[in-house]
Amino acid sequence: MAQYDYDLFVIGAGSGGVRAARLAAMSGARVAVAEEDRVGGTCVIRGCVPKKFMVYASEYAGHFKTAQGYGWSFPEAPRFDWPTFLAEKDKEIARLSGIYVTNLQNAGAELVHAKARLIDAHTVELVGKEKTVTAGKILIATGGRPWVPADLPGIEHVITSDEAFHIPQLPQRMTIAGGGYIAVEFACIFKGLGVDVTLVHRGPNILRGFDDHVRAHLAEELERKGINVLLGCQHERVEKTAAGLVSHLSNGATVESDMVLFALGRAPYVEGLGLEAAGVAVEDGAIVVDDFSKTNVESIWAVGDVTNRINLTPVAIREGAAFAQTEFYDNPTSFDHEMVASAVFSQPAIGSVGMTEAEARHAHGQVDVYLSRFRAMKHTFSGGEERALIKLVVDAKSQKLLGCHVVAPDGPEIIQMAAIALKMGVTKAQWDSTCAVHPTLAEELVTMREKYMPQDLGPVA
Ligand code: NDP
Repeated sequence: MAQYDYDLFVIGAGSGGVRAARLAAMSGARVAVAEEDRVGGTCVIRGCVPKKFMVYASEYAGHFKTAQGYGWSFPEAPRFDWPTFLAEKDKEIARLSGIYVTNLQNAGAELVHAKARLIDAHTVELVGKEKTVTAGKILIATGGRPWVPADLPGIEHVITSDEAFHIPQLPQRMTIAGGGYIAVEFACIFKGLGVDVTLVHRGPNILRGFDDHVRAHLAEELERKGINVLLGCQHERVEKTAAGLVSHLSNGATVESDMVLFALGRAPYVEGLGLEAAGVAVEDGAIVVDDFSKTNVESIWAVGDVTNRINLTPVAIREGAAFAQTEFYDNPTSFDHEMVASAVFSQPAIGSVGMTEAEARHAHGQVDVYLSRFRAMKHTFSGGEERALIKLVVDAKSQKLLGCHVVAPDGPEIIQMAAIALKMGVTKAQWDSTCAVHPTLAEELVTMREKYMPQDLGPVA
């Protein structure tokens, strides 16, 4: 490949791109990475990481309340200072971004601060630098961007998750549009931080794609926290008035607030990438790839959200690693997209792996369901009202676990371990042979013996 400037040119220094670049460089390949923004991508700069800090900050509201049930009292009501939090959060994000830069350098990859545009199958223009470079292989890892309906009247008054990480002052009232991961997570975050939150979602329930019991349970918990959940309607326009922003909804209702956040999904970031010039095929806005993340062009690959497969950081990392193994370590590797666990950092949070009950019934016919809804002992003591939900979906014939769903503060932590067992094909008998850890919330996972019958799900004491 000596006829090229680099063996590998990576476009985008996010989770997938950085992992691929580092691994490839560590094999001895000549690697460069172009990034037009800060190094770290969505996850580190404007996604998972700052969001988790916001979740931690927000959860204290509930902790302070619970503490009182355990005998704590506060001479003064605890106060939260958003600008202080923002400054600390930004410091930590800068530190983490710096670690990404150092890791790239230590691996021997060159970092180029520029937007990169494909000129052809082996050539990349560094926009604004009046320079082109060539590479034997090119990896596109540009991620995604928040999508908003550009033609909605008043859309200019609306913010997305990108801006939510930097609002200078917390509003008193916030309207959030959407019923997916970001809408639900931010609704809980801002509610915990003292904002009056209204969630507006077009569907019959939030979190389409998750198990129906999980969706119903979480919607109930959101309302219990005081979030105003409006279902079956959506924004028709946003009007700026002297009193704030007025959301005009499709059902004729209006909601007045000080800030409107749209979280209606994210779109692959392919603008200005020169995909047409290089002949890279795109479908529904996403780059089309095969099991090895290769595009239709022999020298170009793509990983992560820009391919719109499973849009999660760890998936992008594994796709990037598999690409590097295949192309630079002579070890053909494709990432298995089955049984990928995911978490929604709502309050309580969701951890989920495998099939929903509906998916399992569709794929396997007969399934056994085990379901438990309860108040954790932490709350029965303190008088807290929050409920947990644990659900197992089992193939009636093989008795293999097809799905495991947990709604609880530690749901995401719990599901990481459950995912190992499900990925290994655990049966219900093997699962149940695991002795419980007591007293924990998670012990309920291995002590559910009675199959769930639909009439069982009454109110929880
Ligand atoms: P999601 O795809 O999760 O949700 C989008 C929401 O917007 C859905 O409720 C959808 O409704 C609704 N919607 C879509 N289009 C419209 C429209 N035109 N009008 C009204 N409502 C609409 O997207 P998010 O933005 O929440 O998150 C993007 C992705 O980022 C996630 O899918 C996930 O992959 C990733 N992510 C992961 C997180 C995690 O792992 N914890 C956290 C945050 C993001 P409907 O259901 O009816 O289609």
